[in-house]
Amino acid sequence: MKNKTKECIKECITEITAGKPSVENLTYLLSLPTREDFKPVFDESVRLCKKHFGNRVFVRGIIEFSNYCRKGCLYCGINRANKKTPRYRLTPEEMLDSAAFMKKNGALTVVLQSGEDPGYDKTLIEIVRRIKKELNMAITLSVGEREPSVYREFLKAGADRYLMRIETTDPALFKKLHPDDDLQYRKKCLYNLGKLGFEVGTGIMVGLPEQRLESIANDLLFFKELNPAMVGIGPFLAHEDTVLKDFKNSDIFPTLKVLALIRLILPKSNLPATTAMGTITPDGRQQALKIGANVIMPNFTPSKYRESYKLYDNKICISEEYGKCAACTAGIAMAAGKRIVRSKGYSKNK
Ligand code: SAM
Repeated sequence: MKNKTKECIKECITEITAGKPSVENLTYLLSLPTREDFKPVFDESVRLCKKHFGNRVFVRGIIEFSNYCRKGCLYCGINRANKKTPRYRLTPEEMLDSAAFMKKNGALTVVLQSGEDPGYDKTLIEIVRRIKKELNMAITLSVGEREPSVYREFLKAGADRYLMRIETTDPALFKKLHPDDDLQYRKKCLYNLGKLGFEVGTGIMVGLPEQRLESIANDLLFFKELNPAMVGIGPFLAHEDTVLKDFKNSDIFPTLKVLALIRLILPKSNLPATTAMGTITPDGRQQALKIGANVIMPNFTPSKYRESYKLYDNKICISEEYGKCAACTAGIAMAAGKRIVRSKGYSKNK
């Protein structure tokens, strides 16, 4: 690597960590072609993660409780147009049992995720109330766009956090991928959630068809402005029953680059090593934990439903024996030189 390039990288890192990320410095770093070139960014991300979290990894167990969806997102295997996927909703008892099992296995935070299925909100509110009362767990909802009055109901019932990826902030790309959605409204939902008092999580997919590096740089600036508690990044992966079936899957390296840059921009944010990272390459989650991620999200969806919550092809843990994901996460953390902690993992990003 030429000295001039090294100097340039150093300068960009200094600007970003001084609170001055820009489309220019972020795009430049995102464009670095090799891991060797990018190493100074990874090093800084590791340093910041260590400073704020030591070698601790938080666990958020996920229950994918409904795959009904009113949306037609082009990339997603459970979008409403996919008639091949049998639709399901977990019963309140199934959800309570899964959450209790998760708690027994050391996860004190439950993430309840679904397609966009507002028809189940009433039941969901009741379930949130019961999980809080009977199990006293931290509760994250990831169920999509709603009006503030509904978010308020979720909060009142006991939900603590809300996870909703913006997916991309590029207006043209967003419109293409979400024909029936509105970028400004989705952003507004995220701001509303913050104002109401949720710990907000957001994120994007990396490697979407036609996604430009400048678009990702703008996504990163959006994260700085929103200042979320958590940012989930995953590679785009094709699903055979969607219109994007012939597009190339993303690679792990671009995804890791984005994760490390978020750690520089929001040093105290919770950054998960996502399931999609583990799908793209077997040690994807270990790689993410090694370069700045501090959260892992084992799957506690009852086994018989997992095949029907396939957002992309070859999703890992689908045929896994129920409960195995819990043991697996400890091994993943250990392989990355870290350890799982029994904690609700509230955000430090105040
Ligand atoms: N409905 C909720 C919402 O809108 O936030 C949450 C559920 S949604 C199925 C969960 C996430 O899966 C999405 O935010 C998206 O980033 C990710 N996802 C869906 N299809 C994907 C694909 N083909 N490749 C990678 N990630 C995908």
